[in-house]
Formats: sequence, structure tokens, C-alpha cells
Amino acid sequence: MTLTTWVPVPDDSDFPVQNLPYGVFSRAGERPRVGVAIGGSVLDLSRLDLPHASDFAADRLNPFMARGRVAWRQVRARLTELLTDEVHRPAVEPHLVPLDEVTLHLPFEVADYVDFYASEHHASNVGRIFRPTQEPLTPNWKHLPIGYHGRAGTVMVSGTPVVRPCGQRKAPAEAAPDFGPSRRLDIEAEVGFVVGVPSALGTRVSTADFAEHVFGVVLVNDWSARDIQAWEYVPLGPFLGKSFATSVSPWVVTLDALEHARTAPPAPDTPQLPYLREDRPWGLDLELEVAWNGDVVSRPPFAQMYWTAAQQLAHMTVNGASLRTGDLFASGTVSGPERDQRGSFLELSWSGQEPVQLSDGTARTFLEDGDTVGIRAGAPGADGVRIGFGEVTGTVRPATPDPDRAREIKATFGAIG
Ligand code: MN
Repeated sequence: MTLTTWVPVPDDSDFPVQNLPYGVFSRAGERPRVGVAIGGSVLDLSRLDLPHASDFAADRLNPFMARGRVAWRQVRARLTELLTDEVHRPAVEPHLVPLDEVTLHLPFEVADYVDFYASEHHASNVGRIFRPTQEPLTPNWKHLPIGYHGRAGTVMVSGTPVVRPCGQRKAPAEAAPDFGPSRRLDIEAEVGFVVGVPSALGTRVSTADFAEHVFGVVLVNDWSARDIQAWEYVPLGPFLGKSFATSVSPWVVTLDALEHARTAPPAPDTPQLPYLREDRPWGLDLELEVAWNGDVVSRPPFAQMYWTAAQQLAHMTVNGASLRTGDLFASGTVSGPERDQRGSFLELSWSGQEPVQLSDGTARTFLEDGDTVGIRAGAPGADGVRIGFGEVTGTVRPATPDPDRAREIKATFGAIG
């Protein structure tokens, strides 16, 4: 039976009643609280008679995410009933708030943050660009989902400005590094998975238990300073070239809303150890869209990722490392085989050698101050609808002048320029 809601939902909306993604919102002068998006509105869950009602007056999703799948499904079923049965309309409709009247906040408190590297196309492209004389994939790549621990404290909600980072930069032809604003500021279009139910230290989470622990999915932009990264990453991996900012979308799409998007990843061409195998794989058929100053420059296909999120979670805990509510792990840059499916500007411009033409007549390689990047995504949902993710967006602000230079400018001109 096709679900229909009494809430007016435009056909092209990201938020049909089959979606019901969770976020944290506020109106001017009011406290942040939990809501779900439907059509052009957010439904204020703190005002409804729901199971676990106290969780929805919180300014973060963590208390509700910690409850687990039985509770998640109970609330989803109740919300579906409230929004589809006309009998509930008089009681519920007053608690719909237009999206354009609200501020959306970081939806969950981030515990640990891990970033993976699961696209074969992305890893091969980066290998060719960074290590042109070697095999593009490292020998371990097809045996384990490669990742690194990132900086949880600088995960920010969509719309937060991104200040161009400063750091050490050294071009291959230069003898020594210098210091200054990154000249190769880039994006990485990724999909992030949010852990709800923790695990005990010393235990593993199997691929089969993925949906018992993971609450939902967000879009991620892993902003990356390629010049800082290229100089610092050997031999321990990404550090200051990525830790300055990671943006996430404000709506967490639940795994239950994505049941119809499940798909098998590309067949592995290398045997995988038993702990990485999945009976029913957690590949997801999401189509991403990357817009640079409003121009769509790429449509990366998430279905082509070599490693699934369930494999990543199993790998992340196979040594007994515990999970906490609010852990975020991102997929790695999503890139497909075609040029217009690449999820970073490093790849789209082939390290700056093939500029990207924008509709304003400019040709771009890396980000300039004032540039805005937005990432959107959609997936097939129940009843033939499209499950949208909303958007993760950010605008680049100029680098903060270093303190000595700022004092010098102030002494000369009387104000910081
Ligand atoms: Mn990344």
C-alpha cells in the first residue's frame, strides 16, 4: 500500500513521508530541539505524544540514537501513523514549522570521527596523482578498508563558513617548505554513517549487526588542503591538511528509510577474510551531486564503492575497539569511473592540469575565497519515491592573517584589512 500524507509535499521534495530524517532545529529565541523533515516543514517532535518523548526535547540526537533499533522503529511507525491518518491532523498540524523559519544545528554530538577510502576509482586516481611512478593501489587496499582517525571536534553543520587553512607547503621542486594559506583547497564528497548503539571494549561488531548499531546516514564534505596534505602525509597519513573542517548535512536519514536503496557493491576481485563477508550486503544506491558556485560539476555514484559501511564497521571494531554513541565514520571520497563522476577537485582538474569550466566563464582548479560548494544526494525509497538527503554546503573564507602580520598591518594602517 502506498503511503500518503495529509502534509502538502511537492513532488520534487527531498522529504516525502517515506523519508522522515531527523535533525535539530530552533526558531529565533527558542531552544534547539529534535524534529523530522517532511515536505517544506519540520515536525517538532518535542511537542508530540511519542514514545521516549524526553529524548526529543534534547538539543542533540544522541539520547534517542542510543536507544536502539526497537525504539527507532517504534517512533518511526508512530510518526508515520500521525502523518498519514487524517484523524491526527488537528493535533499534529500546529507543530509543523516551515523550514525557512528555522536554524538547523549540528544534529548529533560527534564522539569519534573516522574517514575511510572505499572508492577504487578515487584511490586509483589519487595514487596516480600523488605517486605517479608506483602502482596506484597500495598492496593492502583490496584486503582491508583503509581509514584514519580524524578530528571529531571540527565536524560542523552545513552552512558553517570554512576558513582557508594555513600550514606548511612544499612543492616537489622546492628545497624547503614555506608557511602560508593553502593554495590547493579542495573538497571530498562523501557519505557518513552515524553510530547510535555503543559496543563494549573488547568486542567486535559483525557485518550482520550493522543495523543494530548504525542509526543513519548524512552527507559529508571532507575539506582537504592538498598542498599541506601532500607534504605531511608520509608515513602516518592525513593530519592538518584535513582536520581544520569537516561539514555534515543537518538531516540524518535513517537506515529504515534506505531499505529500498540497498544493493550489492561491485564483486570483489580479491578474496576477503571471513570477518569482512556479508550475506546481504550494505551497498547503497545513492546518487550524489556536487555543485560548485551553483554549477553541477559531478554526479558520483555511491553504489560503486568497493567497501560497504558494514564492512568498514566490522573492520573498525575487529581489534576490540569500542563504539560510542555519536561516532561518525565517513565512506571516503565517492568517485565513479567517468570524469564527471569524480568526487574531488583534485581528480576533476587532474591536480590542476585540466581546469573545470564554470558557467560564469571562469576556469577553476582548486577553491578560491568566496567559492561555495554544495553536495546533495538522492536514493530510491519505498513506493517509488526518492529519498533526499538535503544538502551539505559551505563557503570558503579568506585565511586568518597570522598574529604577527595582523599586528604589523594594524600598526601601519590602524585596522586589520
Ligand atoms: Mn576523505
